[in-house]
Amino acid sequence: MFDMTKSKYVDYMECNNRGWLDKNRRNEKLEEDLSENATVQGGIEAGIMARGIFGDYTLIDDGSIDELASKTQLAINNHTSVICEATFKYNNNICKVDILKRNDDGSYSIYEVKGVTNPYTTASRKTMDRKYIDDIAYQYYVLTNLGINVTSNYLVYLNNEYVYDGHYDLNNLFIIENLTNAILLEFPNVESNIEKINRCINQAEEPEIIFASKTCKECPYNKHCYKVKEVPEKNSVLGLYKENKKYDYLNQGIKSFEDLRKNGIKLKPFNQRMIDSRLDNLPPFINNNELRYFLNSFKYPLYFFDFETYQNAIPKTICTRPYQQIPFQYSLHIMHEDGRLEHREYLASNYNEPRLDLIIQMINDLGNTGSIIAYNDSFEKSRIKELARDFPAYYEPLMNMLDRFKDLAEVFEKGYYYQKEISRTSIKDVLPSLFPNDPSLDYHNLDDVHKGDEASKAFVMLPTLDSESAYKLRSSLLKYCCLDTFAMVKIYQFLKSLV
Ligand code: SF4
Repeated sequence: MFDMTKSKYVDYMECNNRGWLDKNRRNEKLEEDLSENATVQGGIEAGIMARGIFGDYTLIDDGSIDELASKTQLAINNHTSVICEATFKYNNNICKVDILKRNDDGSYSIYEVKGVTNPYTTASRKTMDRKYIDDIAYQYYVLTNLGINVTSNYLVYLNNEYVYDGHYDLNNLFIIENLTNAILLEFPNVESNIEKINRCINQAEEPEIIFASKTCKECPYNKHCYKVKEVPEKNSVLGLYKENKKYDYLNQGIKSFEDLRKNGIKLKPFNQRMIDSRLDNLPPFINNNELRYFLNSFKYPLYFFDFETYQNAIPKTICTRPYQQIPFQYSLHIMHEDGRLEHREYLASNYNEPRLDLIIQMINDLGNTGSIIAYNDSFEKSRIKELARDFPAYYEPLMNMLDRFKDLAEVFEKGYYYQKEISRTSIKDVLPSLFPNDPSLDYHNLDDVHKGDEASKAFVMLPTLDSESAYKLRSSLLKYCCLDTFAMVKIYQFLKSLV
């Protein structure tokens, strides 16, 4: 008989097929390295930190599920006030409660901890993400069926307004939201949901695949499902850029660019251009007027600028918040009107507080006039606003930079230039399309650091390394960030040559 856990219940509620695939096609699962997954790591950190919310606690660990369940029962018999990782098994349904708190009247409260700052599905924070309701409702089902009197259910998550001052104030670091009403509403469905999942898991044939954008993109079985549904590798609708309906198209049997055209489906300009260009083998498209107008709005000297950042679920740098992006490095290529190119850069050596020296050098390097050119500039502008907020002594010079920004990605996002090899507008997609034979612009030729998340990890690792390894990794970081801004220079020069 199949053992259900709360994470399986949540996954299978999102898509029953995942249960069937876990049982019958496990070898087709793309195994993720969870140590690389920031959300998973954030959840682990938050879970450990939240244990102390109610003071002293008893942690249930070390042992098989049956041993853990016995230890939990013993803690309950002893009227332990706070039990972390309290483990229960009802029939084949297992659950571990992050925090189980005994109330004054002898009843219990369930606290489920998540390492997220926004558990809602909308920015207006009106609709709680369904998976958190399912998660807690499953726990409530297991505990009540074992005769535990649970009277309230809470979701605990990180407060993105919390500012770390060197000591953790757990009551402010976490938001505790009472979901008891929602859980009581969902509870009557849990048993039939478990039965339905079990029926699906045990059926002989693979269930019909119905794609859903929310779940399939991140699903470890998506390659399997695309193969079963014969989604082509080339010119597939999955290659559409920022198109919410692509999974709906797949469900309607519209799988390729050819199918989209055959069905006369109207798309956003970037996607329409991509389809026409690929299917009709068109030469590059250049909107000369728009491109010239855009490039002429740049003012010399041109500052090609890029930050590297890291973030922590639980803030560790003073005056930062959960998941705040903390700049530790930048690269800057300065192009003067006469064509001269200078390079400047910053890489923090103060690993506890990388921002102050960065601000001072950045204000000096970026001067007061000239356009600051970034690729997707909203990221750089947001970091500068946060630096101004966190370091008020530098508020004015930092905020004065914002109006000088120009976003080079606009050229590709808005379609002033398009060629058929460009399927995304990120710099790492655009660059090899424009310069396919230039090894000096190939990120693959870099050592150790090839993309932003590798840069973040490298920086966090630096203080743990011996001086020789740290020197080598710092050089890799410098080369990587330098390529980001040099790539912008090359793209700019290429575009200039067209108009
Ligand atoms: S790819 Fe989609 S349909 Fe297939 S198992 Fe995953 S979530 Fe379900």
